[in-house]
Order: sequence, then C-alpha cells, then structure tokens
Amino acid sequence: MIEALAEPIHGRCLCGTVSIIVEQPKPEVDICHCEMCRRWGGGGFGGVSGASFSVNGKENVQAYRSSDWAERAFCRTCGSNLWYHFLPGNTHSFLAGLFDLPAAFRITQQIFVDEKPHWYDYAQETPMKTGAEIIAEAKAAGHTFD
Ligand SMILES: [Zn+2]
Ligand SMILES: [Zn+2]
Repeated sequence: MIEALAEPIHGRCLCGTVSIIVEQPKPEVDICHCEMCRRWGGGGFGGVSGASFSVNGKENVQAYRSSDWAERAFCRTCGSNLWYHFLPGNTHSFLAGLFDLPAAFRITQQIFVDEKPHWYDYAQETPMKTGAEIIAEAKAAGHTFD
C-alpha cells in the first residue's frame, strides 16, 4: 500500500485556462493501453488520482461521454485532455502530464495490456493486467458496467 502525499499537486492545461489541484495524491501513475485511450491521447494514458480535487476554469471544460461508464474531459480552448471520470465509482483519473510530479511518483501498473499497440513499450517493470482482469477487479469492487 503506497501512502498518499501530504502536499497537493497542481496541474494545468496547455493554455492555462483550466487548472487542477489534487489533494492527498497517491504517488502512482496508472498506464492504460486501451484502444479508446490511444485514440484519445495518442498512446498510453497515464493517470493520477487523490483523495479530492478542485478545478479552476470549469466553464472551459468540455466532457465527452466516451462509454456507458465514463466521461473524458478536455479544455475547450487548447484541447488538452484533463481527466477520465469513471462514473460507477465516481472516481477521476487526471492526466499525469498536466502536473510537474514530484520524484516519488512511479508507474505502478499497466492495464488493458491486451489492447496495447505493438509500436511502443514502457521500460518499467510493472504489474500488467488485461482488460478482462481490470474489469473483473472493478466488478469485484461492486461496480457495474451494464
Ligand atoms: Zn487549455
Ligand atoms: Zn484506457
């Protein structure tokens, strides 16, 4: 179990209109290799999360309902992707690249590895989970997808 950090992390989109503060962030980056994340962001999606968060510039945030169970948000001005909102658990995974993350942050797992394209790999040794495995984990946690 990795302890959350006491210091919040501050992130912003490319144009700076939207800024995000994540409180008690876990120093973990989850990489999702699913096909939707690839089309959304060009490759693996690195996500960070924390106990709570606040957003400045909300009026400039556009949410896109990417599936029955998730919304993906981006900045209306510069197009920067901001977060993935998992609706069944009401959890937000913020784009790791928006933040200047402290040195404690590490990639802790890679998910949907069965959908990862052949043309890249992350060099870190991490747990690797297929889409079926991660969906089973979410269902075991009580989340429903249909
Ligand atoms: Zn922006
Ligand atoms: Zn994904």
